[in-house]
Amino acid sequence: METTQRRAPATEAVHAGRDDLAALGLHAVPLDLSTTYPSRDSRDEARRIDAFAATGARLDGPPIYARVDNPTTARFETALARLEGTQDAVAFASGMAALSACLLARSALGLRHVVAVRPLYGSSDHLLSSGLLGTEVTWTDPAGIADAIRPDTGLVVVETPANPTLAEIDLRAVAHDCGSVPLLADNTFATPVLQRPAESGARIVLHSATKYLGGHGDVLGGAVACDEEFAGALRQVRFATGAVLHPLAGYLLLRGLATLPVRMRAASATAAELAARLAADPRVSAVHYPRIGGAMVSFEVHGDPHAVIGGVRLITPAVSLGSVDTLIQHPASISHRVVPAGARADGGVSEQLLRMSVGLEDPADLWADLDTALASADPGDPGPGHGAEDNPARRLKETRTSDSA
Ligand SMILES: *Cc1c(COP(=O)(O)O)cnc(C)c1O
Repeated sequence: METTQRRAPATEAVHAGRDDLAALGLHAVPLDLSTTYPSRDSRDEARRIDAFAATGARLDGPPIYARVDNPTTARFETALARLEGTQDAVAFASGMAALSACLLARSALGLRHVVAVRPLYGSSDHLLSSGLLGTEVTWTDPAGIADAIRPDTGLVVVETPANPTLAEIDLRAVAHDCGSVPLLADNTFATPVLQRPAESGARIVLHSATKYLGGHGDVLGGAVACDEEFAGALRQVRFATGAVLHPLAGYLLLRGLATLPVRMRAASATAAELAARLAADPRVSAVHYPRIGGAMVSFEVHGDPHAVIGGVRLITPAVSLGSVDTLIQHPASISHRVVPAGARADGGVSEQLLRMSVGLEDPADLWADLDTALASADPGDPGPGHGAEDNPARRLKETRTSDSA
């Protein structure tokens, strides 16, 4: 890890992982696509492979093979760790590969039980519910975590704000209830710009880097920010199972981090404005927008949610989130389809819910598109500006907090 003194997040975003470039005579980050590296000293390589097998720590000296380590990806890992305020970070081929590695690292120690709080991202819910990796899950609400923990519990898994309801969890309280069991917080929605879960006691901070870290809808990746010891375990799992991030993806994710603070601030301001307009609209029955802010807005409509999806023109009707352009999708049909209907309902994912990832477009253009789409979903509606402003029942409904999740 780099040893520079603590700098502000905006500074870290553009400098972390790049501190050696000037000394190398470089400005842009070098992209190393090598799968293997020449070495005439196989005794030294044997020593370094033994060291990696013992702790999983990053290799000292030159790389050996791309499944062990890659210098470009390592720059992204260094930068993410600095932004999250953790000792280390480990990158994976996708967010799901990152979550799988966390589960495998714990179950390799015989700790196969997981305690988790709904809602989670649909595929995370599915991975835990299916037991595909040999784990067993107990679903609970935040207040039930302490009671759900068993001697073989290896992880507590939460998301805050959660996908897709934007429900928030008090991480400090939950971390306390976890005791010695590591708390994994999925920070994909907030990003370190809005929330640094490690400061609240989460030992493991998970990202689908596909979303805001990449930020342009063109990179699939995952990452875990954590302490050095757990990072070592994750590197060993990554080496053994092979879900490495491609170096070009590592390059693009590092580049994405540089603009993460400005993108998050700009998109959050627009999202807050759209959330307020939706809350004042009679065609909308509920709006979920997190206390900590962010670029995600979820809302429930009185009319047909599928007609809203079919009615947008500027906004892209697509799953995923965190890009520079605005996306909207129907969780019950798409992102959370793999979650059984009953479990979706338990997690607050109603059939009327739409999830919108707000991008960097002008707020007025986005509202005009939403307004038209809402009208097509609710043909009998008088439209905006007909008493919506003075209807107190339409005021922004705060996202549910820990005691009601
Ligand atoms: C998308 C997502 C994931 C999974 O990430 P992939 O990169 O698609 O594998 C995990 N958690 C959350 C909150 C997500 O939104």
